[in-house]
Amino acid sequence: MDKIGQALKNNSEIMKSRVTRPAVYGTSIAVIALVLATLLSAYLASGKITLYTIMRAQKTNFTLWILDIMPFVFAFWGQYVSSIMAFEASAMVIDQTEELRNQAASLEHQAMHAATHDSLTNLPNRILLRDRLEQALHIAQREGKILAFFLLDIDHFKEINDTLGHYNGDRLLNSIALRLRSMVRESDTLARLGGDEFAILLPVIKEKNNVLVIVEKIQQSLSSPFSLEGINLDVQASIGIAVAPENGKDVDTIIQRADVAMYVAKQNNKGYAVYSPELDQHSPKRLTLMGELRQAIENDDLVLYYQPQIDIKTNKIIGVEALVRWQHNKHGMIFPDEFISLAERTGLIKQLSVWVLKKALAQTEQWHKKNLKLKVAVNISPVTLLDPDLPEIITGQLAAVNLDPRFITVEITEGSVIKDPQLALDILIRIGKMGIEISIDDFGTGYSSLAYLKKLPVKELKIDKSFVMDMIKDESDAVIVKSTIDLAHNMGLKVVAEGVENREIVERLKKMNCDILQGYHYSRPLSVADFESWLKSHGRL
Ligand code: C2E
Ligand code: CA
Ligand code: CA
Repeated sequence: MDKIGQALKNNSEIMKSRVTRPAVYGTSIAVIALVLATLLSAYLASGKITLYTIMRAQKTNFTLWILDIMPFVFAFWGQYVSSIMAFEASAMVIDQTEELRNQAASLEHQAMHAATHDSLTNLPNRILLRDRLEQALHIAQREGKILAFFLLDIDHFKEINDTLGHYNGDRLLNSIALRLRSMVRESDTLARLGGDEFAILLPVIKEKNNVLVIVEKIQQSLSSPFSLEGINLDVQASIGIAVAPENGKDVDTIIQRADVAMYVAKQNNKGYAVYSPELDQHSPKRLTLMGELRQAIENDDLVLYYQPQIDIKTNKIIGVEALVRWQHNKHGMIFPDEFISLAERTGLIKQLSVWVLKKALAQTEQWHKKNLKLKVAVNISPVTLLDPDLPEIITGQLAAVNLDPRFITVEITEGSVIKDPQLALDILIRIGKMGIEISIDDFGTGYSSLAYLKKLPVKELKIDKSFVMDMIKDESDAVIVKSTIDLAHNMGLKVVAEGVENREIVERLKKMNCDILQGYHYSRPLSVADFESWLKSHGRL
């Protein structure tokens, strides 16, 4: 018997013993009444009370016989009633305990559900998926079966989210989840891993080629447009597939391999890829880099390169843009395009931004000490810009150096402002008040909305290199460059053209009244040592 059962038994024993007391009183009263009645009866019959007259009264008076039974009746009745009450009370306690137990179990179930399911789509989440994948891998291995794992990433979801808003983005994810759910079987697992990433686990497939049938089904299920706010949206997914045991036998390997395949699928035009070891060549670093970036920041394995910016009128170098690189002991030099987005996704971007700011300011201070009054431009990614700590971080870094804030520019992109305009504006105003200049990078590629540009404390526009590089060949690019320069000047802003690759571009930009030039025509981004030799050879140091 368990503890609760034992407690119930004890309780009912105690209750029984308490309720028996009235039975004892009843019996005692019956006995007293019987004795008195017998004595009275003996006295009335013979005028005296002796043993003999008492015996005679008991033998001859039938009413006394009824009284004789009463103590037994009381005893039995008392005991019986108390037993029933004790039983009912304990049954009540058992019922209530059962209900409490059920409630506790249901709460536990709810908590368990929340921990293992995605709150938006109610699909299993990453945790449950890993658990199911682990079990399925065991079973597949034991029974010699093939298992298939699909990773799905919705193409261009970010743009949809940015344009139509989070509410509609969420609605779209729900509709996608519904369609996907209708095509998987009960025994399969469809999970949402977060953002626009889904996964499908098929615990058993007959042969590897069957994955192609599933891919077709997935693509089919997404093929008809989704209707949102009266707009018909075409949605496509990139699907990466790994099968076990061929591609791996443990959870991490299978997920990583599907991730590599998905990365390849994003670039090929089929929309899917099945993992094979050759695919690793397309993203050999992707796997290892994720784990190594934190270490690289801590170990100072990153390095800043500097690309000069030239004043178009004086032909003098007025500043540099700091561009980060990663000197990897195995993969050699890794360019920021390969790890900035990784840093953003893993949350390391904050540390990276702090590192870049610190190094860039310290280096610029060094140059100023040598009487080389250069400005320095630092790139701030959208995630960093929307971090409310950013102004404090910059203040802290500024305090560590002896540098006039007017020599510092932060380059931000339009996209980061659009994400949360109010927060971005607050932060930019605080940064602007420190005397730091703000420049809009990659201008022309994003939303290019003038409405918000007017509100921001911006000093400079940087025309994206894609327009500048092609402005000689492509007249429409030249028109964009020209009108951007005019527009910026009308708003009282300076204009930097990046991607200046040759003399013709320089000449054309001079005619267009551009202010500052940056590009391979002058110099590629250079390490500190190379930059200083470049300055010397150009008679600037
Ligand atoms: P960006 O800010 O647009 O930087 C300019 C990029 O254009 C640099 O690439 C530079 O090497 C390249 N470039 C400069 N002149 C020319 C040219 O004449 N022709 C061509 N074809 N390219 C030119 P890089 O250094 O690979 O940086 C790529 C991007 O990575 C940057 O684009 C920036 O968005 C990001 N990035 C670089 N450093 C940092 C950093 O410290 N923090 C953050 N958050 N992002 C960074
Ligand atoms: Ca930049
Ligand atoms: Ca740029």
